[in-house]
Amino acid sequence: MTQVGFLFDPARCIGCQSCRVACQVYNETTAEVNWRQVTSHERGAFPDVVQHNLSLACNHCERPACMAVCPADAIQKRVSDGIVTVDPDRCNGCRRCVGACPYGAPRPAPDRSRVSKCDFCMARQDAGLAPVCVETCVGGALRYGPLDEMDAMAGEGPLASSVEGFFDPAWTRPSIRFVARK
Ligand code: SF4
Repeated sequence: MTQVGFLFDPARCIGCQSCRVACQVYNETTAEVNWRQVTSHERGAFPDVVQHNLSLACNHCERPACMAVCPADAIQKRVSDGIVTVDPDRCNGCRRCVGACPYGAPRPAPDRSRVSKCDFCMARQDAGLAPVCVETCVGGALRYGPLDEMDAMAGEGPLASSVEGFFDPAWTRPSIRFVARK
């Protein structure tokens, strides 16, 4: 299986929220059910503090904690590319996946009837198009592709599996890599 994933370069993210808004508009989600979140983080100690932003959604993990706890078999991992999806017809809204995911990716509906999350714009990818968050990112901070090709994609720095503000990847093995710069 080729696992597709995100490549994120914190140095290129200006925190404009274009990716989050594009995701919300394209997927017709409400403000409460944002599938993508942009947050700000700091590292270091005064006066040598460095700030960066993170744009995160579902990481289509190698070992999805959400899928492991779903009692309705509503969460599946596609064999061909590892995209993790929620079947809205199977989801019963129990929200166990919400508690299990360390990245806050599954988002409950306001009426609690079901949970939804980023599907990596699976239909767009099947049509040869980039996910809307990637397409909309003005700084080129968000990219995507097969994980095993990301070393060549990164270009501007070594790849890291985590960065300040990101939960320990050892648990679910998320399909995202970061461009690591000093
Ligand atoms: Fe599941 Fe969360 Fe991993 Fe997405 S990020 S596959 S919702 S555990």
